Formats: sequence, structure tokens, C-alpha cells
Amino acid sequence: MSQIENATDSGRPLLSLRDINIAFGGVRALKDVSFEVLPGEVHCLAGENGSGKSTLIKIITGVYRPATGAVIEFDGQTYSHMSPVTAQQRGIQVIWQDLALFPEMSVAENIAFQTVLGRWPRIVNYGNMRTLAMNALKRLGVSFDVDLPLKEFAIAQRQIVAIARALVGEAKIVFMDEPTASLTQSETDHLLHIVRTLSADGVAVVFVSHRLAEVLDISSRLTVLRDGALVGVYPTEGMTQSRITELMTGKNFDNQVRAKPKENQANVLEVKSLCRRGQFEDISLTVKRGETLGITGLLGAGRTELALALFGMTKPDSGTITLDGKQVNFSSNRDAIKAGVAYLSEDRLSLGLIQPQSTADNLVIASLPKIETNGFLSDEKKESLVAGWVRELGVKIGRQVDAISTLSGGNQQRIAIAKWLATDPKLLILDAPTVGVDVGARAGIFEIVAKLADTGLAIILISDEVPEVFFNADRVLHMAQGKIVGSFDPRQSSLKEIEAAVYA
Ligand code: ADP
Ligand code: MG
Repeated sequence: MSQIENATDSGRPLLSLRDINIAFGGVRALKDVSFEVLPGEVHCLAGENGSGKSTLIKIITGVYRPATGAVIEFDGQTYSHMSPVTAQQRGIQVIWQDLALFPEMSVAENIAFQTVLGRWPRIVNYGNMRTLAMNALKRLGVSFDVDLPLKEFAIAQRQIVAIARALVGEAKIVFMDEPTASLTQSETDHLLHIVRTLSADGVAVVFVSHRLAEVLDISSRLTVLRDGALVGVYPTEGMTQSRITELMTGKNFDNQVRAKPKENQANVLEVKSLCRRGQFEDISLTVKRGETLGITGLLGAGRTELALALFGMTKPDSGTITLDGKQVNFSSNRDAIKAGVAYLSEDRLSLGLIQPQSTADNLVIASLPKIETNGFLSDEKKESLVAGWVRELGVKIGRQVDAISTLSGGNQQRIAIAKWLATDPKLLILDAPTVGVDVGARAGIFEIVAKLADTGLAIILISDEVPEVFFNADRVLHMAQGKIVGSFDPRQSSLKEIEAAVYA
């Protein structure tokens, strides 16, 4: 063992597999697969149907024996294959799809029987079993009547019983193979909560699910299989559903022009001959319901100045702004917010978010009236508003009270977007929304933008990266020296053509 490995002792995997091969009647179900799980981590195993996920789990839990040459390291010991008994004794537990429970037996028996039987002396003490069962359920934050027969419980609760059984078996790692397949949304939420509880308790969880939103929500890392082969291991942070799909299928869905015709929609914003001396000149444009209008150009082209005028931060010298058919004349951004305009500033870190403040406070700051009851701010309303948006936009946060500065760039950006969405805008102006956001997390921001446009929101997307507007906007305006000098339809123009115009 090298010294470097010694030095990173804490990051050592709990489970590590190498050179895993298995074939069923000539069909190679797994080909040279490796797989690693860290202690206490929630790890997602992703892949299309038949990609080998369940087979891999069955090898780890001793149901199948891999071809010779396989190496399985678990918690400091090395095996060429597992047996179900060894796996269980070492703390490898599985929640099988059929749960392998006994409906006629009590909850307590289902949870504790196996473990109590495995111990010496083999005296089955019901009181002891009840205590074990109740403690396990308590660790999961639930309380069931442990004396009732299991058949009285719904499938979601039985699943929790199976997880409690794994805990009693002193699980160090729990495998869940499509545990949410037959659950309702609220049952799924509860299960995901339990998975988090397990992880916080130091138990690693390997999770298989087809619902990618769930995968992104729950796991910190992701292993992708395709046709029995390893595609790769990725941090979930910054992953998007479309990227996972791409990895699972090997087909590229990224970088497709999203532009769709919006001609038949009503104008949300209509700007005519807008001028502000020294900043922009003779700006005329429209943004329709559900439309994303891209504005690109070099730095200093006047894009942000135009946005600030649309948001009531500065007053134009001449020209008109019409919102939903009514001409507006904002004297402050407060007027603009009231009229349904939201502006996510370029300078998110200094203007958009208040770094030392909590995630929740940052999110609600522009929509305080919504969380008010009789003149007082309601913590409950605040929490549920925040929880709703965190979920809607797939934001990874710790606790709502944690400072926004503890979040990654991509997640801060989502909170900044949520802050404005909470004001129920008609028009959302996004000024350089990917500045300070990791390349990996950028696609996620644009997925949100597309989703918002689909709900009918009119969006102005400002970016000096031409591909961002080319791929994500319905129309692209080119601004230079305060004027609109070009207009492009991404379905009819090429990226090269627009870039050539902008960088000419
Ligand atoms: P996943 O769980 O990702 O949907 P599986 O691990 O169940 O995929 O299956 C991987 C491949 O191995 C599939 O082609 C499947 O048909 C095959 N396979 C799995 N188990 C068996 C088995 N017991 N006998 C024959 N073929 C199997
Ligand atoms: Mg499967």
C-alpha cells in the first residue's frame, strides 16, 4: 500500500469491486465492471433496463457468483465472490423488490427475527425483539405498532419495515433496487427522507431508480452502466436529467437548438424606440408569452443597461415600454416587480444574493407579502414556500437556515432564480445567468429556463456566450454599441454565422 493511500484513509471506499464479469448462457451481462461506494454515501446506480444493475447488486450480495478474476473488497477484507450469509454478516443488506417479508408475522418479528436467530444463545425473546424493532424504527424516525401483523400495513410501510430489518442486521450498506417503483409521490418523499437519515447515520445506500429527478435529489455520486459495461462515475452535483439520459443511452441530446415557433402567442413585452443617452439607442423588441429572447453581444454593448431600464432601475430618455398591452413608466424597481418584471442580475454575488444570510431569507426577500399573516412574517409559510421552490428547481441545500454562501455556484443560481419566480413574474430577465456557475451545472440552469418558458413565462436571456443564446433562445438579438444590429432565428441560422457577426 502506498503512502498516499494511507494519507487519504478517511476517503477510502467501504466497498470496492474490480474486474466483475458474468454471463448468462453466452450473454455477457457484466463486462469488466468496477464499482465503489464510500462509507455513508448515497450512491445511485443508473442504467437502462437490462444494463446490469440488478445483476451487479446480486453479485455484491452473494446471489450470483462472478467469473474468476473478480475482486470484491468490503470493509477491509477481500473476496473473490460473496455468499449471502457472509454478505449479511458483514453488514451488506438488500431491500429486495418483493421485500422478502412475512405478512402473517408481526412487525417486530419481521424486523428482528432473522438477527435474533443468528445470535447465540438462540433463545427467541419476544420482548427483546420488540425493543430491537422499535429502536430500529426510531432510528428511521417512524413509529409503527410493532405487534400488528405485517399484512395490516401498506407496501410503503412494509418497505420501511424491511429497511428497519437491515438496520437491526447492523447494515453498513443498504441496496435498494427500484424501491420507489410502486410508491406514490408522498411515500417516495418519505422514503427519500429515510434514505437521508440512513446516510446521516453513517449507513451507505446504493439506490436504483428510473426517476432521474429522484436520483439527482438523493445521491451524491452516480455510477452509470450501459449494456453491462461501466460508462463512468460522476458527482451528482451539476448533473442534469438530460446528461444522465445521454450517459445511459449513449445518445447525445445536448446542444440541440431549443427554439420553437412562438409567433401566435401574445406579446408580454413590447419595447418601442427606447433610448437612454450614452447607453442604448432606438431599441425596439417584443417578447411573447412562453418565448425566450436571447440578447448577445460583446461586453459593453448596452445589454445590461437596457435590462436595468426594463426593470425600472434607470429611466429611459425616450421611447415606450408596454407590458401585457399596458404602457408602463416605472419610477423604481419596486414598480417593475409589482408589474411582473423580475431581473436576475449579472452580478449575482454582490447584488442578487446576500451571502451571509440564510438560503431561505435570500429566497423570500422579494416576495415578503406572500409569507405574511396579519402583518407578521410566518415562519411556516416561509418554510413551505422555500421547500416548494427548492424541490421545483432541484436545488441542493443543507438546511434552509444555512447561509447561502455554503451552496455551490449552481445551487446559488437556482436560489436566485427561485427568489424571482416566487414573485410570480410575467417577464424574467436573466442577465448572464451562468457566470460563476460550473460548466457541468450550466445545462441545469437552461433546463430550468426551458421549463419556465413552457409555463408561459416570457424570458429575456442575456449572455455574451453566443452558444448559450443560440441553443436556448427562440430568437437571438445581437447588440453592439447600444443598438440592435442583428436578429437571428436559431432554426435558420448557424452558430458560426452568429458568432461571426458578434466577433466581427
Ligand atoms: P437491470 O437491473 O439493469 O435492468 P439486469 O441486471 O436485470 O438489468 O439484467 C442484465 C442482463 O442480464 C439482461 O440482459 C438480463 O436479461 C440478463 N439476466 C439477468 N439475470 C439473468 C438470469 N438469471 N438469467 C439469464 N439472464 C439474466
Ligand atoms: Mg433491475
